[in-house]
Amino acid sequence: MKRYAIGIDLGGTKILTALVDRFNGKVVHFVKKKTKNAKGSENIYNKMVESIRDLIGEIDIPANEIGSIGVGAAGQIDRENGILIAAPNLDCFDFNIKERIQDEFAIPVYVGNDVEIAALGEMKFGSAMNCDDFVCVFVGTGVGSSIVKGGKIIKGATGTAGEIGHMIVDVNGRPCNCGAHGCLEAYASRTAIEKRIEGALKKGRPSVISEYLESGKPITSGMIRKSIKRDDELVKQSVDEAADYLSAGLASIINLINPKLIILGGGLIEAVDYFYETTIKKAKTKCLPVPASKIEFKKALLGDYSGVIGAAFLEERDR
Ligand SMILES: [Zn+2]
Repeated sequence: MKRYAIGIDLGGTKILTALVDRFNGKVVHFVKKKTKNAKGSENIYNKMVESIRDLIGEIDIPANEIGSIGVGAAGQIDRENGILIAAPNLDCFDFNIKERIQDEFAIPVYVGNDVEIAALGEMKFGSAMNCDDFVCVFVGTGVGSSIVKGGKIIKGATGTAGEIGHMIVDVNGRPCNCGAHGCLEAYASRTAIEKRIEGALKKGRPSVISEYLESGKPITSGMIRKSIKRDDELVKQSVDEAADYLSAGLASIINLINPKLIILGGGLIEAVDYFYETTIKKAKTKCLPVPASKIEFKKALLGDYSGVIGAAFLEERDR
């Protein structure tokens, strides 16, 4: 394995492209570009090429010392052929990332999804170092997870294993983006918490969070943290509700898979300690006593870099 690889985290709002030193897991250099106004396969392709060129141009390492380019995208992936089958938030469909980027740079390209690369990053240099049996759960716009068994990410028959966000927690519950009702994501994501707070504010419930809000801009994890620090009743209730559902989902995962470790990450977990603590405390009381006695929880360690670091190791996944 060559020492360096390029890791790309292709998200709904930005492309983070980094040169990763695979010997120590350090990000040597990175380039960040917004994707907000440039959706669609061609625009995304051009932004990726531009990012890789900028990155290679800004470092002192020759291209022949770069072993591979790993790309993780928020969407459905055909791993074997490196195709982004569907990524609605990027407006990309049937986009052959592997073929096109490989043709452009003559470096082998590997493609995975966003949660998978984050889990790989945490396994290599984050909270799951030396643990080959764990589940990663990321809470953000949605709720995503990756299940690792024997050091390998479980893919399932169609490559979609680990969709904890669409675990049904309320049979006649809220509608979910996937078309079903009562999915965990509709209750425990940052979006769900935002909706609940916004709904209550519209009905005239008082909350200190209104002091931080700017019109037309969404509620952020930071605003939620500040409101909880001030003991705000509405925000606390909304976070408690999300923790209640998330912990139910985690308890089901613990009972079903019996992992040694669960890693929780994403903006809301990172920013709001109260959410993390409440969730893990509740999860332990909701699952069966025997698996509960062994389960360990940790916060993700690598933050924004977990994806690019993991993507730099996608090459190993396909061996
Ligand atoms: Zn769903």
